[in-house]
Amino acid sequence: MTTTISASQTQSAPSQNAALEIPKLTPMNSDRLAMGLLVIQPSPFCNINCDYCYLPNRTDTRRMDFDVLEKVMDKIWNSGLVISPFSLLWHAGEPLAVPIKWYEQAFEIINRFPKAKDYVIHSVQTNGTLVNDKWCAFLNEHQVEVGISIDGPEHIHDHHRKTRKGEGTFQKAMRGMETLRKNNVPFGVISVISDISVDHPDEMYEFYREHDITGLGFNIEEVEGANASSSLDKMEGGLDRIRSFLKRFYLRNKADGFPINVREFQNAERNILEPGWSHKPDGDYYNMEADPFGMINVDCFGNFSSFSPELLGQPTEKYGSFSFGNLINGSVFDATVNEAFQHVLADIEAGNKKCAETCQFWQYCGGASPSNKYYENGSFDSAQTHQCKSTVQMPMEIILEDLENDLGITDKVAPLIEMPAPQN
Ligand code: SF4
Repeated sequence: MTTTISASQTQSAPSQNAALEIPKLTPMNSDRLAMGLLVIQPSPFCNINCDYCYLPNRTDTRRMDFDVLEKVMDKIWNSGLVISPFSLLWHAGEPLAVPIKWYEQAFEIINRFPKAKDYVIHSVQTNGTLVNDKWCAFLNEHQVEVGISIDGPEHIHDHHRKTRKGEGTFQKAMRGMETLRKNNVPFGVISVISDISVDHPDEMYEFYREHDITGLGFNIEEVEGANASSSLDKMEGGLDRIRSFLKRFYLRNKADGFPINVREFQNAERNILEPGWSHKPDGDYYNMEADPFGMINVDCFGNFSSFSPELLGQPTEKYGSFSFGNLINGSVFDATVNEAFQHVLADIEAGNKKCAETCQFWQYCGGASPSNKYYENGSFDSAQTHQCKSTVQMPMEIILEDLENDLGITDKVAPLIEMPAPQN
């Protein structure tokens, strides 16, 4: 969804005291501005030091004050933009490095807002190393959705995911995962695919099966924020290697009856069955990154950005700061008069126009992630990226080719594909 902020929209921005009504977004009201995701950074600090991390200030131990949190919630909750379902993601640092006591008070503050207890779906993305029984009790009590970052078997995981002393974090992360399982906390796994794993789809697949991991998302290592280059870009034929990895993984999973739900393939399947779902705000899945207020990302000082959590707090020569305002004294609508926001929004729309004109996947994708366009191509006003090739285009192509293969229309996908020679 692309939305231009017009003068009339800024003038009719709901008052901060407007009575709260949480609408379900439907095709009837889909041209309104809407917010479905709030990303809050309780602290920029992370207890480990992955070498591909995009966060610039991860040694900073400062923490969000409760009066800042209260003001942030007040501005968001009373903006008139909030829709259901509404997700609150604790992110942009290691969320579990902040003590449980802090979250107990934070959740109490949030639940004071009308209907927040019923409407807010909390989630965390954690490195898993700090998970213990107490955390599990808290996560269960508040039905917090959990994603845990595990990159594969020990020698693969530990290649990039290390402590500041350079030690591997696999053992602690796996202990965290087993603690979640023991306490019946549902979780999904996110794995970064990098130079060390891309040539080893069989080993990766067998690892997930061995550890009974059934919900999985692949983050193909990206150029983003503080991570100025991807290890995959340094490999000869990096994109071909990613394609081979994804194909092989898909076919192994298929041969076993799809015991692993892989986010990228599920999204691709949904795109094929319902073209356009990812950029029509008429259901459970809409592309919040394409709506100027679809997701708001707030740092621990109340500064906010939009479009993508990876932009939060990042300096840029081209656009100035990606902080579009501060929610302690201002509101999200301050962004509409912020020069950087206007510049970014205009470029995102121009980039999406390029996508629409040049890409056969446009009707399925709707423009994908603006932050990847900026970090890979140097401008939001651009189209194709490695990220969209590997997370949007390739999974769709693999499923379609496989379907054609099953139907005997083509034999592009052989049942067992050839892998390029591993580089490591
Ligand atoms: S797949 Fe890439 S190039 Fe195509 S519409 Fe999506 S973002 Fe644009």
